[in-house]
Amino acid sequence: MNNVRVRFAPSPTGPLHIGGVRTALYNYLFAKKHGGTFVLRIEDTDQTRYVANAEQYIVEAMEWCGIPFDEAPGKNEKFGPYRQSERKHLYKQYADALIASGDAYIAFDTADQLDFHRKDHEEKGKTFIYNWHNRAKLTNSISLSAEEVEKRIANGDAYVVRFKMYQPEIHSEDATIDAEDSIRKNVSFKRALLDDKVLFKSDGMPTYHLANIVDDHLMEISHVIRGEEWLPSLPLHIALYEALGWNAPQFAHLPLLLKPVGKGKLSKRDGDKLGFPVFPLAYTNENTGEVSRGYREDGYFNDAFVNMLALLGWNPGTEQELFSLEELANSFSLDRVSKAGAKFNPDKTKWFNQQYLQQKENSILATLYAPILKGKGIESTPDYIETVVGLIKERATFVTDFWNLSDFFFTAPMEYDAKASKKQWKADTGSLMTEVIEVLNAIGDFSSENVETILKEWITSKEIGFGKVMQPLRLSLVGALKGPHLFDIAAMIGKEASIQRIENAVDKL
Ligand code: GLU
Repeated sequence: MNNVRVRFAPSPTGPLHIGGVRTALYNYLFAKKHGGTFVLRIEDTDQTRYVANAEQYIVEAMEWCGIPFDEAPGKNEKFGPYRQSERKHLYKQYADALIASGDAYIAFDTADQLDFHRKDHEEKGKTFIYNWHNRAKLTNSISLSAEEVEKRIANGDAYVVRFKMYQPEIHSEDATIDAEDSIRKNVSFKRALLDDKVLFKSDGMPTYHLANIVDDHLMEISHVIRGEEWLPSLPLHIALYEALGWNAPQFAHLPLLLKPVGKGKLSKRDGDKLGFPVFPLAYTNENTGEVSRGYREDGYFNDAFVNMLALLGWNPGTEQELFSLEELANSFSLDRVSKAGAKFNPDKTKWFNQQYLQQKENSILATLYAPILKGKGIESTPDYIETVVGLIKERATFVTDFWNLSDFFFTAPMEYDAKASKKQWKADTGSLMTEVIEVLNAIGDFSSENVETILKEWITSKEIGFGKVMQPLRLSLVGALKGPHLFDIAAMIGKEASIQRIENAVDKL
């Protein structure tokens, strides 16, 4: 494929939902697969929904995900600027050209008037649509004389520009707009059923529709890969390309992300309700102060998160589930993106994180664990932390699980699991453990294997069950009946601390 140029075109109206991240990811993968260019364009023409920190959030989220843009605001602005609010001056000429060619018209209907028509229709059990059927009865450059239109404009009356979706003069009654979507294959829309969308607003800004297709054209976008929610806009976009005499890009509409249970699309509000993040990064609403959770802050690895997202709607056609970003880019194709919505699965997301955690180098995990330990006032060496991580990581899903799995490597137990103590610490355990202290004290090489061999020999010689010693010993060192191999723990904390902990237990239990 030649000159692949794709774009991610978010509107900065709030934090980016994971569905948006997936759209960006698929665009990125498609670009990489075909040696193309991945563009970020900020679609900020809707001033009423503009949120100041949203663009920053989007950029930071993409950085965290590790999916870099080739062109973006402030980066290789080959067709810049890349913020639509900075391209304002570009759009009007195209609206004017469409008016001149008879494909668009000026409409003066006020919000109140449109509201009146809506209510009036409702009362009659109908729905008001601004379309070919009634455009001549409304207040616009089709119904008004040229002088009247000029007078109104000169007078400063607010107006919008609308697109003539269906023109009975040139279109047959059942004329359709057809497209070949890469995912949905043939899609067809009947022109006469569609409304006359606003292209240019009274505030001097283009609507999303006009700005979007003008920019895709000017930025030489070859493929538009976006969410299914934009499919209803497709006929308008195709009709606009036609009316402007431009080649339309290839379209691909991605399946929706669905709630984990029940029906419906995964919404921005679902996460906090259902107990998992729906945003890549935590987000604080500037107006309400409300904080929404993010995958980053919840302790997910960015690569695990991205791997999980890639498989929400795309499949490689094999059983493989774990992919590096590079492998994803090599395997990705729009042919294997499904039409059906993809159910989001929070448990599977945890599974991915757990898998990635197991694959990470212990030294890397140790550097992530170190600040947590520091926060608890624990001083330790990188080597020690790394060894601990190696002993416990198989039971962890998140780095934040490490402390509960390994606290006893760093501090002596302050209390003992009550149920376990009652069951394992018998009347004769105290004197038995005092003997264990003597045995341990005599050991010179306090390695895990050596301590194990010597203690087990001693237990055998005493002709008692292993459990009688091993369980109280674990309780003494750990405070509960949990943790990895007992002699690994003893060797790690060392002879002195092991003995000290047994003495404590003998005192307290
Ligand atoms: N600005 C639109 C959005 O927020 C872009 C849709 C498109 O990709 O065409 O999703």
